[in-house]
Amino acid sequence: MSQNLLPFKQYIDGQFDTGTVHFDSLDPATGQPWARMPAAQAGDVDRAVRAAHRALNDTAWRGLTATARGKLLLRLAELVARDAGKLAELETRDTGKVIRETQAQIGYVAEYYRYYAGLADKLEGRHLPVDKADMEAYTRREPLGVIAAIVPWNSQLFLSAVKVGPALAAGCTVVLKASEDGPAPLLAFAELVHEAGFPPGVVNVLTGFGDACGKVLTSHPLVDKVAFTGGPETARHILRNTAENLADSSLELGGKSPVLVFDDVDLDSVTNSLVAGIFGASGQSCVAGSRLLVQRGIADRLLAALAAKAARIRIGDPKDPATEMGPLATRRQCEHIERTIQASLTAGATLVCGGQTPAGREGSHFYAPTILDCPNAEVPSVQTELFGPVLSVVRFDTEAEALALANDSQYGLASGIFTRNLARAHRLTRALRVGIVWVNTYRVVSPIVPFGGFGLSGLGREGGMEAALAYTRTKSVWINTSDEPIPDPFVMR
Ligand code: NAD
Repeated sequence: MSQNLLPFKQYIDGQFDTGTVHFDSLDPATGQPWARMPAAQAGDVDRAVRAAHRALNDTAWRGLTATARGKLLLRLAELVARDAGKLAELETRDTGKVIRETQAQIGYVAEYYRYYAGLADKLEGRHLPVDKADMEAYTRREPLGVIAAIVPWNSQLFLSAVKVGPALAAGCTVVLKASEDGPAPLLAFAELVHEAGFPPGVVNVLTGFGDACGKVLTSHPLVDKVAFTGGPETARHILRNTAENLADSSLELGGKSPVLVFDDVDLDSVTNSLVAGIFGASGQSCVAGSRLLVQRGIADRLLAALAAKAARIRIGDPKDPATEMGPLATRRQCEHIERTIQASLTAGATLVCGGQTPAGREGSHFYAPTILDCPNAEVPSVQTELFGPVLSVVRFDTEAEALALANDSQYGLASGIFTRNLARAHRLTRALRVGIVWVNTYRVVSPIVPFGGFGLSGLGREGGMEAALAYTRTKSVWINTSDEPIPDPFVMR
């Protein structure tokens, strides 16, 4: 292993260390190693979970008022905002996501911590009008416990904010596992947690591989909930792991999100929205609008406009602010895409544009923006999540046909409807089997609005009040208000 690689540290029980086993992180723009990461082993994971468990029950954290917890979160939000530029550079370097996107996204991540800072002292229990004389009953909202938060490589700071923010607001403690692909920004985020002044063990940050780290973490007997974002296959492993500790789980998984475009729209606006929806983040977004369902009358014109726009996308060094599309994060992403495109061409799809590594970038992780014109929904690229810059297009004639095509997926994360017909937009919104519907817009998010899917796209919701409540459990309290002595139950009256 080269000595010139930048060493990163894991953060356990308020201490930073470089770990005992390491791996190299590659810069996707060059394919070359640039940093040395600690690969957490079973012993590291156990230390982190035990630290989180101790912290959960220690007065340094448990004894804080909810308002004081909120103030710590607010401090963390300020630090994320202060260092957003530095964190964005790290994410760009380690994942290849273009700097203009990481800067915008991480600037907004601070807003998620601010939102949950504000919610910390608003997670209220209820007084219950109980049907017993001389009894008072109420519920308390208590922290769920130790949270294992696991994120994939894309948008790690964002995907961890929607777990760490509500978990800390609710009074939980966290072991956050960064992906083994591109963990640099999360390991750097640990320094901000430390600077904000959270007691040791409240937040622990490590990275590592599926079996040695992820499996040990999710099956640990002291973990109370797994908050996971990643692929459905890993989610199945996690559910098997939590059969051991009976931990609660929230699962944010993949998507094959449909965008329905009707023939009454403004083509320029829709073209811009579709391009942002599928080629933003090089298509490596769970909500990528990867299935375009277009009404037949405008299909040829829309495809021509999309292809022209795709051809003008500036592909290049993700660190350059002028770059609009960078490389994919890993080689295995490119191989998965290439395989599925080949299978789709064999199944009758036509290549409108792309379908290859851009000229001059052979051997790299770059992949050209690709559009496939598909004769039907059985084409593999229409059904398979590609997590890359590939748009599969299917034509429809009627609204009913569009709806049937949209719902013909195992996934159900996001969707878009483009139409000027308000009644139709409402009808489709009700009938789509998805967690998010964007009407005449796409890919808008906010800390205030819940996020999550149906079907293979997962269980539970992140964002909003709903997510904060999901990190609590209720305790029911009964109080006898009578001064009368309690009668002996064995004396007959
Ligand atoms: P992945 O499922 O391979 O990995 C995700 C995380 O799980 C990584 O940290 C990995 O180390 C860990 N992991 C692997 N095996 C494990 C095990 N046995 N036990 C516990 N943890 C384990 O996903 P990926 O390839 O990194 O990311 C791409 C996937 O993430 C896509 O399917 C994408 O749609 C999905 N995603 C979903 C959302 C959402 O909010 N719905 C957001 C972003 C990405």
